[in-house]
Amino acid sequence: MNFVPAVQPPGSQDSCGYWFVFQGDRLLVRPEDRDIRLPLCERLQSLGVVPLRTQYLGTLGGQGCYSAELPTEAPPPHGMRFEQLRGLWGSLPEPLFWIAGRAFQIMDWDRNHQFCGRCGSPTENRQEERAKVCPRCGQIAYPRISPAVIVATTRGQSILLARARRFPHAMYSVIAGFVEAGESLEQCVRREVQEEVGISVTNLRYFGSQSWPFPNSLMVAFTAEHAGGEIRIDPAEIVDARWFTAGDLPRIPDKISIARRLIDWFLAGRQPDYPQSPEQEGGDDVGR
Ligand SMILES: [Zn+2]
Repeated sequence: MNFVPAVQPPGSQDSCGYWFVFQGDRLLVRPEDRDIRLPLCERLQSLGVVPLRTQYLGTLGGQGCYSAELPTEAPPPHGMRFEQLRGLWGSLPEPLFWIAGRAFQIMDWDRNHQFCGRCGSPTENRQEERAKVCPRCGQIAYPRISPAVIVATTRGQSILLARARRFPHAMYSVIAGFVEAGESLEQCVRREVQEEVGISVTNLRYFGSQSWPFPNSLMVAFTAEHAGGEIRIDPAEIVDARWFTAGDLPRIPDKISIARRLIDWFLAGRQPDYPQSPEQEGGDDVGR
């Protein structure tokens, strides 16, 4: 199914659309047998809920897609419940999961930019693009996207995996970190690897990217090779880091993430019969 993003809804909204309805950071879903479904209706009011704000996202397979924000105290409609978006990966059909990530970011941006950050006046939505403008001082606010790099560093037949303090028990992954103001992606890769595990890297290659809506990251993935230095972890962020071979990997991240795609890339290069993980790039496979 093809997702076509848009800012302005068609002239009249008179057909059913997908509704991505959030309360805080949880999505409203309808569990049906073993599937998870989204509200599909013309107007949210028909479900008995009154949103604070709604946003038009575009169309999926010709059907309108909308996001909405509910008040924190609103109970879910009968037969429905609120779920953490990330926990729905695997049970919500994948195109809908990634559109839900987009919906969350746009809903979140809308609620956080009701007022101008410079002069405090109420903002207005721009008609021609996804932006808010301050009618008093002209300041424009676009949805905020925070770029982060993620890098698979190899040394011969080994890959560098680290266990960050924030990870669930016993999981190891590749190094990642947010891009700082004024920094290129390549500089960020070198700095993050140096800071977190004390080694230098070379032969950086772009690998791919993934929208990561928890809450608003864009993950930019690279591969790199060890250039020098021994592992020396930053204990503030990292609990342990080691070189692992394909045969002795620790627990690694789920298939949802580009971190896993990087590790799968490493494994496929060392084990010819290892199944490559499919392209899955947070929106790229839904028709942009
Ligand atoms: Zn202003």
